[in-house]
Amino acid sequence: MERVHNFNAGPGVLPEEVLLEAQADLFNYKGMGLSVMEMSHRSKEYEAIIYGARDNIKKIYGLGDDYDVIFMQGGATLQFLTVPMNFCPDDKIANYINTGVWATKAFKEAKKLGKKAHLAASSEDEKFSYIPKQWTLSENPAYLHITNNNTIYGTEWHTDPVVPAGIPLIADMSSNFMSKPIDIQKYSLVYAGAQKNVGPAGAVVVIIKKDMLERINPNVPTILNYKTHVDAESMSNTPPCWSIYIIGLVMKWIESMGGLEKIHANNIAKAKYIYDAIDNSNGFFKGTVKPEARSLMNITFRLPSEELEDKFIKEAKANGMIGLKGHRDVGGCRASTYNALPLKACHDLSVFMADFQKNNG
Ligand SMILES: *Cc1c(COP(=O)(O)O)cnc(C)c1O
Repeated sequence: MERVHNFNAGPGVLPEEVLLEAQADLFNYKGMGLSVMEMSHRSKEYEAIIYGARDNIKKIYGLGDDYDVIFMQGGATLQFLTVPMNFCPDDKIANYINTGVWATKAFKEAKKLGKKAHLAASSEDEKFSYIPKQWTLSENPAYLHITNNNTIYGTEWHTDPVVPAGIPLIADMSSNFMSKPIDIQKYSLVYAGAQKNVGPAGAVVVIIKKDMLERINPNVPTILNYKTHVDAESMSNTPPCWSIYIIGLVMKWIESMGGLEKIHANNIAKAKYIYDAIDNSNGFFKGTVKPEARSLMNITFRLPSEELEDKFIKEAKANGMIGLKGHRDVGGCRASTYNALPLKACHDLSVFMADFQKNNG
C-alpha cells in the first residue's frame, strides 16, 4: 500500500527509513531476542540507545559541555508548569511573549502556579498573525519565555530575541525543533515535544544550560525538578524507552540527510511550493499571517468560504493528502511540512491547489 502525504500537525510524519528500520528491529532487536519495548532501561544495550540519542542531539546542534540534554515526559504541556516551578522564585517575575494558543497556555500556567507573570509583548491584537519586534521586560525578570514556532497560527521566529545579559531565554520549540540551524547558545532552556518533528509522542527533549541548575528552587517535587533528570541522565525513573529509541533513529536520519543546513534548505523548498500556490492564486487562497512571519513548518490559509474549505479538505484526502484541516480553535486549512514530509508531497499539494481553484474559483 502507498503511504499518504501526511500534513498532520502532530503527531506528525516520520521518515520512512526510520519506520522501516524500527519495523525490522521490532520483533528481535539486533539479535537480542526481544524488542526495545521489552528490554530493561538499565541494560547496556538500552544505555547505548538513550545516550546515543542524547549525544547526537548535542552533536547536531553543536553543543558543548555547558549544556545537558534530557528526556522528560508529560508533553510540552507539562513544561509550561515545570519551567516557572523551577525558575521563577517568589521575588521574581516570569516574562512571556504571547504569540498564540500554546504561548497563552504557558503564560496562564505560570499564573496558576501563583507566580508573578508579565506579558512582555503579544500579537493577539492582530489575531496572532505576526511575531512582535519589541517587548518590554518587567523589573526583576526570572526569564523570558517564547514560543519559537506557533503550530496553530502558523508563525515562526526567524531571528532569536535578544535579552539583557543574565536573563535566561527559554523557548518552546516543539514544532520547529531540528528544522533549521539555530544558535542554541542564545537559549538557557529549550523544550520540544517529540511528536511534531523528531519522534513519537511520549518524550519531551529538554536542552538545558548547566548554569540554570543553580537557579532551581530546591523545593520543587523530585520528578518535576530538572536537576533530577540531569543527575540521573534521564533515567531517574523509567524513561519513555520506545519514543527515545525512535528519536535516536531520527537523529541518525538527520545526519544522513546532511545535517540541519540541508534539512533547512529542503524545508524552505517545500514551504515555497505551498506559499507560492497561495500567493499565485489571486486571493482564492489567503495566507493568514504576515509574510515575514510565515512558518516553515505550519502553513495556514483560508479559502473563500467554509464550504469550500470542507470540500478542499475532503477532495485532498481522496487524492491521498491528509491532515489539512486547521486547528479547531482557528478553523481554515493548515499544511504541516515537518522534516520528514517529502518534497513531492508539497509539490503535489501545490498542483492540487491550483486544480481545485480552477474547478471551484
Ligand atoms: C503541540 C504543541 C504543544 C503541546 O504539546 P503536548 O506534547 O501535546 O503537550 C506545546 N507547544 C507547541 C508549540 C506545540 O506545537
